[in-house]
Amino acid sequence: MYKQSTTSFNEKSTRRCTADIYNDFFGSFGGRYVAEVLRTPLDELERAFIEAMEDEDFLKTYDYLSRTYTGRPTPLMFAENVSRTAGGGKIFIKLEGLANTGAHKINNALGQALLARRMGKERIIAETGAGQHGVATAAVCAKLGLECRVYMGEVDIRRQRPNVFWMELYGAEVVPVKSGSKTLKDAVNEALRDWASSFAHTHYLLGSALGPSPYPDMVREFQSVIGKETREQVEEAGLEVEALVACVGGGSNAVGFFYPFLHAAVPKLIGVEAGGRGEGRGMHASRMSGEGREGIVHGYKSLFLLDEDGQVLPTHSISAGLDYPGIGPQLAHLGREGRITFTKADDAEALEAVKVFAKQEGVVFALESAHAGAVALKMAPHCPGDRAIVVNMSGRGDKDLFIMAGELDKTAWKEFLRKEAE
Ligand SMILES: *Cc1c(COP(=O)(O)O)cnc(C)c1O
Repeated sequence: MYKQSTTSFNEKSTRRCTADIYNDFFGSFGGRYVAEVLRTPLDELERAFIEAMEDEDFLKTYDYLSRTYTGRPTPLMFAENVSRTAGGGKIFIKLEGLANTGAHKINNALGQALLARRMGKERIIAETGAGQHGVATAAVCAKLGLECRVYMGEVDIRRQRPNVFWMELYGAEVVPVKSGSKTLKDAVNEALRDWASSFAHTHYLLGSALGPSPYPDMVREFQSVIGKETREQVEEAGLEVEALVACVGGGSNAVGFFYPFLHAAVPKLIGVEAGGRGEGRGMHASRMSGEGREGIVHGYKSLFLLDEDGQVLPTHSISAGLDYPGIGPQLAHLGREGRITFTKADDAEALEAVKVFAKQEGVVFALESAHAGAVALKMAPHCPGDRAIVVNMSGRGDKDLFIMAGELDKTAWKEFLRKEAE
């Protein structure tokens, strides 16, 4: 299942890609550690991606649908009430959660689905853990008229039933994965197995800035729309930005948000991982801010939470989207280099941040994004009053109703569920 594999490594020297934004390696991280059979579709995908990024028509279509379907640009909001009570720097929020389907995931789903259509593929497969990526993919496939199959662990299906309803409403087929631990990692393996025999007409739409090359570059490119808009919005508002703060699961919202700012010395770039319930094994998902070790999992080299034998450890976070044992290779590299600083927020801090922003600003953060919100609240008092801290609200919290309601008023919520079930 989640075993390390070093077979069939595609040498960098054989790659055609010259443009410096398309790295297959980030320092020593990244690469393409896959079985022989997957080399063909990955080579084809890389070529198609590079061509598409130089094709004006493709970029125009992506831009048009981003505006008219996704709802871009998403606003940059001044959290003036929270800033006043926290004291110090001004907190601004990039409201990515206002994008169609409720999170940043749709930026990547739209880009890759358009690329698949350009390549003449009629069918899309995807993996999903909590279901957010599956929902975005299913929605985009409905819009573009592509057949869609989503692999989801049986355990995750049980935990995240509402998202299964949405995917099916969009017309996707949700396939329960019964192997291994019946969760995300098994769903990835199942999707890869499908792709190995179906790539002639099928595109594998991977959900975060990780996996074998070219996925980390491709997902970052489609998500960098967040950072490009943010840069324009802070310039327009004349803000002096002290720091950008984003939560990090696989790393797609963070790398897309940070990307246009990477080559400048300022602002500070802060990635926030899930501190979960504490420091013990299986209690958190802190790779960079915890004990991530070098490994090769799911086709790429990066930092993972592994035991002494190199087996992937279980993880925990109150937010389903940060509950992942690995981090995208570019973020791992930028963390090592010191351009990005990693820290963590725990379950309780994230929950508290959801409440603070809801009560004082009238916006409900997704539990993932609330990890970044929590860190901004801690940083603000130490930041000069004429500087801005910009938080990426990667998603809105509607999807977390079932977790939040139980935490806020368990008795009332249980009573409601009992009545509904009658
Ligand atoms: C999936 C998800 C994340 C984590 O994924 P990244 O690839 O790290 O961005 C964060 N926030 C929300 C709202 C999500 O749905």
